[in-house]
Amino acid sequence: MLKSFSKSILPYFDYQNCLSTVISYGVHKKANQLCPYCLQKSSYIRFFWDFKISQVCPIHKCNLINRCPRCKQTIRWSRPGVVKCKCDFDFRHSPTTTATDIQLNFAFYLYGYLGQVEYLNAIKAIYSEDNPVFDLSFRMFSRLTYFFESYIKVYWKHQKDTDMIIHTKPELFSFEELVFNLFKDWQQNIRQFLQWYESILEPRYYPLKVVNYLVNFLVEFSTFFSTHSPMSIWLERYLVDLLSRYNIKQIKIILQDLDNLFVEIFNLKEVNDWLPELKQKRESFVELNLAKLISLSNKVKYVSISDSHSPELIISCNIYPDY
Ligand SMILES: [Zn+2]
Ligand SMILES: [Zn+2]
Repeated sequence: MLKSFSKSILPYFDYQNCLSTVISYGVHKKANQLCPYCLQKSSYIRFFWDFKISQVCPIHKCNLINRCPRCKQTIRWSRPGVVKCKCDFDFRHSPTTTATDIQLNFAFYLYGYLGQVEYLNAIKAIYSEDNPVFDLSFRMFSRLTYFFESYIKVYWKHQKDTDMIIHTKPELFSFEELVFNLFKDWQQNIRQFLQWYESILEPRYYPLKVVNYLVNFLVEFSTFFSTHSPMSIWLERYLVDLLSRYNIKQIKIILQDLDNLFVEIFNLKEVNDWLPELKQKRESFVELNLAKLISLSNKVKYVSISDSHSPELIISCNIYPDY
């Protein structure tokens, strides 16, 4: 029923995709979680309570409960009644804890993508309609969270006194909640994130290695978005600025497909001239930007002319941080 409801209102969502992604996080099979206030309204189990990723009631802005406040046992499916515990406690009288904004923002997004359009509208009003996070399917968002996880773990390991959104105790929020909240004021948060990452790398590696890590982050991050998305455009600008900040003058691209070997050296100063030219040369370059070109390449050499000790560095993509 929910499926047909969501399809009629939200034809642009791949609802099935979203649901299978949500299920992949796990479903409560033996135990159950619930919202006491929802039960006060009507005594039935809500669809969203089954999912492990769903921990908040967006209607009542509270955390779902999964233990009986009297006997402290987990709330089992096999209980005397929907609102009743084995110990006879009435769950409608359970105390709750208030959900934080970080939790609620994600809950609105999740419920919205599961077909509750009013929550999607609510979160779009908070995040703004054109926020790049809404360009992603829920499945892509989930993959993006996975991508960010390793960096957030590094952050927690080297925790600094900043007011970054991920500066929080690991046990308090899920990675999904943290990554979703990175998109609130996304330009400021992503810049802060990148600056923090650079500050962690700088004392540990020589400059071209720092660039290597940062470029890989930017390139992989931008693969989640289409070339014309505001996020890609922003990341592209950051990438070009980064390279120029580290005095990288040229970039050598080595690209090999079935029977072509493509090797060219480009001046980064003229990136706006040669990128459109390159687009015309190859069909696969239709949606080309610098980040995409790097991600497509088998090898990339960055040439920093002023750095005589390590004038060239071969960079292969998709390197994850390892500390
Ligand atoms: Zn509720
Ligand atoms: Zn009980």
